[in-house]
Amino acid sequence: SVTAPATAQAPHAGLPYQNPALPVADRVNDLLARMSLDEKLGQMTQAERTALNPQSDLATFRIGSVLSGGGSAPSPNNAQSWANMYDSFQRTALSTPLGIPMIYGADAVHGHNNVVGATIFPHNIGLGATRDPALVQQIGRATAEEVAGTGVNWDFAPCLCVVRNDRWGRSYESFGEVPSIPTAMTTIITGLQGTTLGAAPASIMATAKHYIGDGGTTGGVNEGNTQLSEADLRAIHLPPFKAAVDKGVGAVMISYSSWNGVKDHGNHHLITDILKGELGFSGFVVSDWAGIDQIDGQAGFSAGDIDASINAGIDMVMVPTDYKLFISMLRTEVNNGHISRARIDDANRRILTKKFQLGLFEHPFADRSFTGTVGSAAHRALGRQAVRESQVVLKNAGGILPLSKSAKVFVAGKSADDIGMQSGGWTISWQGSSGNTTPGTTVLQGIRNTVTGSGSVRYDRNGNGIDSSYTAAIAVIGETPYAEGAGDRPGGMGLDQEDLTTLSRLRASGVPVIVVLVSGRPLDISAQLPGWRALVEAWLPGTEGQGVADVLFGNVAPTGKLPVTWPQSASQEPINDGDGKTPLFPLGFGLTWPVG
Ligand code: BGC
Repeated sequence: SVTAPATAQAPHAGLPYQNPALPVADRVNDLLARMSLDEKLGQMTQAERTALNPQSDLATFRIGSVLSGGGSAPSPNNAQSWANMYDSFQRTALSTPLGIPMIYGADAVHGHNNVVGATIFPHNIGLGATRDPALVQQIGRATAEEVAGTGVNWDFAPCLCVVRNDRWGRSYESFGEVPSIPTAMTTIITGLQGTTLGAAPASIMATAKHYIGDGGTTGGVNEGNTQLSEADLRAIHLPPFKAAVDKGVGAVMISYSSWNGVKDHGNHHLITDILKGELGFSGFVVSDWAGIDQIDGQAGFSAGDIDASINAGIDMVMVPTDYKLFISMLRTEVNNGHISRARIDDANRRILTKKFQLGLFEHPFADRSFTGTVGSAAHRALGRQAVRESQVVLKNAGGILPLSKSAKVFVAGKSADDIGMQSGGWTISWQGSSGNTTPGTTVLQGIRNTVTGSGSVRYDRNGNGIDSSYTAAIAVIGETPYAEGAGDRPGGMGLDQEDLTTLSRLRASGVPVIVVLVSGRPLDISAQLPGWRALVEAWLPGTEGQGVADVLFGNVAPTGKLPVTWPQSASQEPINDGDGKTPLFPLGFGLTWPVG
């Protein structure tokens, strides 16, 4: 049931644009004809929730969209207070004379990851390892339900980057290094939106991001420069976006990166000619967070940044804080003729079309019938299945895996008993953090749930207390959480000192060591690998660590395959399939065993 609007008897009721029986195009035309220039400029503006101060600015400036930037959440952070916050913003938006609903965006990039209690699915790199587009579509659907239950109607996902250099700090947001893998995983869009945007309940508008070439920058530098011929750019980085457009994705977000030295945010050829023209994208284009500011290389946005971005084809600007200044400068650029009124109308037509299709005019408030799905048992079971399918067994000397459930195991490592570690960046906070930041099952708990009978589990984070009486040592180690540029690795990609110390303690016992690597990308492990009996790449599995144990103890046979080429050392980067370099493990590698 949908909460009754505060403005149930709105003065604008009964006008053609308010009539759901009319075709969307007619409603858009009717509404556009009633809008002032300022109302149109507001629609093109997206502000961050904490920047909207006072909240009435949303109405005063007729702002069309609100977002939660990475981790920006109401207090207390739970599904119910998200829904209350959303409804409060929407009531403000609807209090304007035309009562145009706002659209609320958030980064639900592996489940509804900003919300405490949500189901956190594996990051995209793990989903790429599953090679299971049907599963990924189900994850999109589950995510959509959890998002809908908090009122949010727009997801800044999926990231369709094609990661070409594992040094990049956003590697884990990629489904894989070859375009075919992200292209196949665009099924997540159908999961999020449904087959037709807005046709069924819990239809969440998806965003194909970041257009284009974000994963192909020189040196894997975040927001860097992608140096490629147009033919190569099209061959490597365009196919997933074409697939997304073909699936009706509602929005496309522009990449911070440059192509051959020109910022994508100001590139008319890429945005208007190729995306909107050639691919026929009919949704709207949104900038990245303050992305237009970077066009001229000066801090903040200038008139030139505004002209270049809007004229290139950006329809909505994620400002995200100085919205008053942005709107007044945009007004000046329209009044002085640098931006045409036709361009403003085109942007508004695109944005309003999505709002009508989503049903926001009829159902503007949070659909609380979905609030109870946040972190539901059914969604967690799906998460566990995704974790199972994403595990990639890279080494299994002597067939030590799967372990017997009656084994005497010693578990160690900084990532063994830590939901934050196993979830990575974009989890509760932007950067993510270690610690049990949200409910879930750690890998250790999964192992404890699985070992039975005469088996036993002892845990020490640092490996202290191990002796030769154990069947196996399981070291759960890897990367600590990071997001965006914070994860770029200009130097090595090796294990940290804590992991190396833990490993040497375990090895000194003589007990066979099984390594479970919790990481967003391949790491530099060549020197250590000979000392490990088995290696399982777990990626960033999220809240359902039971799925890791399911593979280790043979509840299922592993099926995951590397979505990226694994280098022998960081110095081989960039290393990709077919480039003639000799990797440690090739793209598609993954061992298995018979089950049952
Ligand atoms: C990221 C985007 C994200 C946006 C909003 C930016 O920093 O690059 O992927 O959607 O923030 O949080």
